[in-house]
Amino acid sequence: MWLGEALLEPTQADAIITQTSAIMKAYADKGFTAAGSNASIWIVVDRSVSAPQYSIRSEVIYLSLDSATSITGDKARRELAHELFHWIQDEAYAMTAAALSGARTWWLETTAENGVFLIDNGALEYNLKHYGQTNVSGAMLGFQAAPFTWGRNDEARYIHAQLLRVNMCEYSCPISERDMIWAIKRGRYLLDNADTQAKIRANLDDYARYLLGAAPERTNTSIPLHETVRVGDAFGDIIQISRTSKSEFSLRTSSSPPQIMQETPDSRPPEYHINALIEQGGVYPLQVISGQSVQRGHPGWPVMLTIEPGIELLYRQGDEPVKHHDGQDQLILGPIHRTMGYPIVRVVALGRNASNTFKATVRIVDLQGDWMLIPGKTIRSAVVCTPDGGSPTSDTSGTLDAFLATMGVYE
Ligand SMILES: [Zn+2]
Repeated sequence: MWLGEALLEPTQADAIITQTSAIMKAYADKGFTAAGSNASIWIVVDRSVSAPQYSIRSEVIYLSLDSATSITGDKARRELAHELFHWIQDEAYAMTAAALSGARTWWLETTAENGVFLIDNGALEYNLKHYGQTNVSGAMLGFQAAPFTWGRNDEARYIHAQLLRVNMCEYSCPISERDMIWAIKRGRYLLDNADTQAKIRANLDDYARYLLGAAPERTNTSIPLHETVRVGDAFGDIIQISRTSKSEFSLRTSSSPPQIMQETPDSRPPEYHINALIEQGGVYPLQVISGQSVQRGHPGWPVMLTIEPGIELLYRQGDEPVKHHDGQDQLILGPIHRTMGYPIVRVVALGRNASNTFKATVRIVDLQGDWMLIPGKTIRSAVVCTPDGGSPTSDTSGTLDAFLATMGVYE
């Protein structure tokens, strides 16, 4: 039904109908029987709508003019598929606002995203890219926020669909794909109990492996390791260290204070202090990158990431295997530099059993202190080798200025 002025060309309206039919057929083929019914689906295109939405009261899907005119594009098509999944849910669930608690809304939203994952191969990666840096409140990422609850207009928690996907498999997971399809048909809330929620929190380390680009070991071991998790520079908090036209050493971050604060100690280059609260069941992905990206831009000086004790985490230096850190001691990672160390260091800290705070510092390599902690292998192969593969120099004990002066060679 097209209300009011004619906003669309007939061919654009046809494209929406074609997409809707294709999406509903794909859902029906997956076993969501409501999608195969002959019931009419009402879609209204309206200038006043900013993002696609499903109205529980009227059972109408509203599309923005933007979505409606780009419906074959990935964004609009996936948003339409998400809203159509709410339409399917509405056939079995009592979706009135009064019936919904935070936990129930979390289930309806994360299963709607997972419904899209089931019928669209690129949607899992799209979700991570699209919602991987959205904030719930202040600087806190959706990743850091507790699962199994939902705030009003809480777009940031769409990212929790990733957590659900990692925990969805046939035998060793808290929930299987079959369980989800069954629940959606019956109008059940499978995760609305403390036991299952505890199981999902117990799997946070496996979720972290996936976010670090490695296959989970106990849960959904066959989840696709797409480019976004393999490269790891497009979600979570990101810190880039580069040389710019204005400065030899420039720090940039995707985050904002107070989560990541810049400080400049006396007569030293600037440094970043990270203070990231993680709610129970949340995680905190952080990437420290040399250059504008792992491949691109001028790297600045090498830095170390120093993580204070007290928080469990998994980390990955460059392409090395994912490692677990129990949080007993301070952890120093690096040096982080495209040619003289690791081009990227990635961390996923866990709020496994209770909320916790990830505290860390990114600061330039200190030749007198941190430098001595670097494994010999790294010094020889990455830090002081000459570009033509000549013999390693032993001149690592000079002044910081002398050392840095030689560094242009390695960019
Ligand atoms: Zn939704």
